[in-house]
Amino acid sequence: MKPLSKKVDNIEESQTIAVSSLAMKLRAEGKDVISLSAGEPDFPTPTHVKSAAIKAIQNNFTKYTQNEGTPELREAVASKLQTENGIETTGANVLISSGGKHALFNSLQAICNPGDEVIIPAPYWVSFPEMVKLADGVPVILKTNEETGFTFTAETLRPLVTPRTKALIINSPNNPTGAVMSEDKLRGIAKLALEFDFYIISDEIYEKIVYDGNKHFSIGSIPEVRDRVITSSGFSKAYSMTGWRIGYLSANKEIIARAAKVQSQTTSNASSISQAAALEALRGDESDLEKMRKAFENRRNILIEKLSTVKGISVPRPGGAFYLFPSVKQLFGRTYDGQVISSSTDAVKFFLAKAQVALVPGAAFGSNEHVRISYAYSEKDLTEAADRIASAISWLD
Ligand code: GLU
Repeated sequence: MKPLSKKVDNIEESQTIAVSSLAMKLRAEGKDVISLSAGEPDFPTPTHVKSAAIKAIQNNFTKYTQNEGTPELREAVASKLQTENGIETTGANVLISSGGKHALFNSLQAICNPGDEVIIPAPYWVSFPEMVKLADGVPVILKTNEETGFTFTAETLRPLVTPRTKALIINSPNNPTGAVMSEDKLRGIAKLALEFDFYIISDEIYEKIVYDGNKHFSIGSIPEVRDRVITSSGFSKAYSMTGWRIGYLSANKEIIARAAKVQSQTTSNASSISQAAALEALRGDESDLEKMRKAFENRRNILIEKLSTVKGISVPRPGGAFYLFPSVKQLFGRTYDGQVISSSTDAVKFFLAKAQVALVPGAAFGSNEHVRISYAYSEKDLTEAADRIASAISWLD
């Protein structure tokens, strides 16, 4: 038979999704695996949001909506972005999609031509490079490390900019490191975008989840770059609405029209029911958000306290999101059951085999010396997982 798509041969499967699926399978087989793999809040969606969805179904709000999203939700998103983020935008500058991932995919399809370079700071969320490749672009990786708290500046970015640079992807707070980019650094990067004429895709899905006095700043609020920033976010993380698949973009109208064209030929509108729920999430009582943020902060503290005394891993303190990204480099060269640990994937296999804890290898995020631990799980699971990790390491040769 004729060969299948080369483009698909050239992309990786999402490791966050793959490890979560593996953990679900092992649990279904009766294995006592604690999965700290997915970035998925364990809280229920707020009750008033669920009620709005039920009401939408009862009122037969179950048909196609406008491809771009309902006018009410587009307006509500625009007004949220104006008041909370300081971004000058309107409902006509907003596209509602089926999750933040879909919104980002649409935005890259809207702007990339074959061979366009898109700069992605590493560690990065697993899907960014693959989405760039699916848009026929070329991912260009900017390495960051613990010493700078996994952040970067205009000056560290400058050497990577070429005439082919089409865009930079910023994800602050970051998945997987939890790094929060300061306003100062973002202002410097905005100047560089003007100097070299590139777009900025700002993935702000973790904006509500920040700790220790860190402040989220939206680069799209800087008037000089307003037209070249695509702000992307969604409801999954802040409102615990992962399964509803609802996210959005805000950008200049030309980009929105193109992203909407891609959407019109692929998925059409996001679910009408999820749109009704999202509207209520934005308009209704938001007190659950602060409760969830506080719970994440508490879980982060518990996990850091437990893991910081474990020899063999070193755990940086994240300023936002709900992930730890410890280095496992010190485990390299050590053995168990005749196997040598020499990569992040080996370390993940070791933790699954000997601690029955599922983590995601750092290699999937562009760093082979780390593993990602999601702490969007219950305190009970986190405490138990930390204890298991500690005792598994203590058995290593
Ligand atoms: N974004 C979450 C994560 O990184 C959910 C899974 C995914 O879409 O990657 O775990």
